Amino acid sequence: MLASDAIATAVANAWIQAKDTSGGANANYIPALATVDPTLFGISVVTTGGDTFTAGDATVEFAIESISKVVSMALAMDAIGAEEFHGKVGTDPTGLPFNSVMALALHGNKPMSALVNAGAMSATSLIPAESAEHRWVTILEGQSTFAGRQLTLSDMINDSEQATNAHNKGIAWLLQAAGYLHADPMGVCDVYTRQCSTLITTTDLAVIGATLANGGINPTTQHQAVTADNVPHILAEMTMEGLYESSGDWAYSVGLPGKSGVGGGLVAVVPGVLAIAAYSPPLDERGNSVRAQQAITQITRTLNLSLYRNGPRTVIPEPASVLTTIGD
Ligand code: GLN
Repeated sequence: MLASDAIATAVANAWIQAKDTSGGANANYIPALATVDPTLFGISVVTTGGDTFTAGDATVEFAIESISKVVSMALAMDAIGAEEFHGKVGTDPTGLPFNSVMALALHGNKPMSALVNAGAMSATSLIPAESAEHRWVTILEGQSTFAGRQLTLSDMINDSEQATNAHNKGIAWLLQAAGYLHADPMGVCDVYTRQCSTLITTTDLAVIGATLANGGINPTTQHQAVTADNVPHILAEMTMEGLYESSGDWAYSVGLPGKSGVGGGLVAVVPGVLAIAAYSPPLDERGNSVRAQQAITQITRTLNLSLYRNGPRTVIPEPASVLTTIGD
């Protein structure tokens, strides 16, 4: 079978298998997310050669939410270097919910991971900028470079989050008190809230993942979104904390670095090969999309993509020009 046929079939089958899965609920602590159609479900795979395979609602826009943490981590790390980033933010899993204050308290208010809210705000504050507005523009540009197109803010979601983010404001002040925030706390929280309210499609999300799979170079535009040397650090952090308290279970059962957001997006990265993204709003109790987890798990297993497998993958890690001609 052609490698591209194998991917297309795996994507189509995963969509059919997961589309009727019930369970989970939209995030409701952000009012604008509670009202999104819970039946929306898209899958997209993008290879490091830029080939794209989709099923379902892959072109519907949704809020990037915590997946934005990957981009702000990349921008901050590129700005200050991996060593300094390690010292200032930390790079270990917390084992606690993404907005946990307990996780901070246990470590002298050090955030520990850029992929939880505290560490994400710390990372955002480390992105060089003259003002909060400048920092926001820099992040939106970074997100757009990762996605390969100009992304936009959802005013509706941003307004809703800004009106209900008192908990994140509290975290920002705790970080400030402990010396882990490097710009005005309320400005940082405002920018963090905006960076979570950017709209992406499932295919944008797969391109973001494929950029990480491709050493930081967007496979659709060839633009460098992050330094190649920093990609392994980001993927390691995604392995440890990308699905919060489920990250260990995800590594055990799927074996790929991933990142979820409470908008319903989830992406998994196979370095050098491709990324698999899926989107559906209903979340489990840890904030990870139920259908997206099911779909990505199935595709990963069908194509033998776990990083920890010792054996041939169905997809041979070659550039697209080779990938699409295998079997011709
Ligand atoms: N904006 C959301 C928050 O700060 C993002 C959380 C998430 O996607 N896990 O709570």
